[in-house]
Parts: sequence; structure tokens; C-alpha cells
Amino acid sequence: MVAATRHDLHPMPTCAICGVPIDGPPLTDDETTAVLHPACAADRLAGDLAVAGLALAAALLARVAVVWAG
Ligand SMILES: [Zn+2]
Repeated sequence: MVAATRHDLHPMPTCAICGVPIDGPPLTDDETTAVLHPACAADRLAGDLAVAGLALAAALLARVAVVWAG
């Protein structure tokens, strides 16, 4: 008889972003229920913030352009 290891009972979850098994406490995405590395989730969040920042900057520039044109 071979004793089941903890790994067999609980297969290691795989990160939805980088696809690497998560060795440690996983982070769960509330929207997709996917599990992520905390670091990968932070990277993605930073990317989202960068996109949001660019959109905000574009909106402000457009507004300034309208003011100048008027
Ligand atoms: Zn990852």
C-alpha cells in the first residue's frame, strides 16, 4: 500500500496567467474564480492601471485640445 501524499489529495493549482503550478498560497480571481500567483495578479493589476492611466491622459489631452481649438 502506498500512502497518498498531500500532493495527490490536493493537486497543485496552476496559475491562470503564466500557467506555472502555484507553490504557495494562491490568489483567487473573484470574477473568473481562476487561481493566480499573487505576483502575476499584481503584474496584471499594474498593467490595467497603466492602461487606465493612458486612457485618462488621452482624455485630458483631448479636453485640452478642445479648449485650445475653442
Ligand atoms: Zn503565475
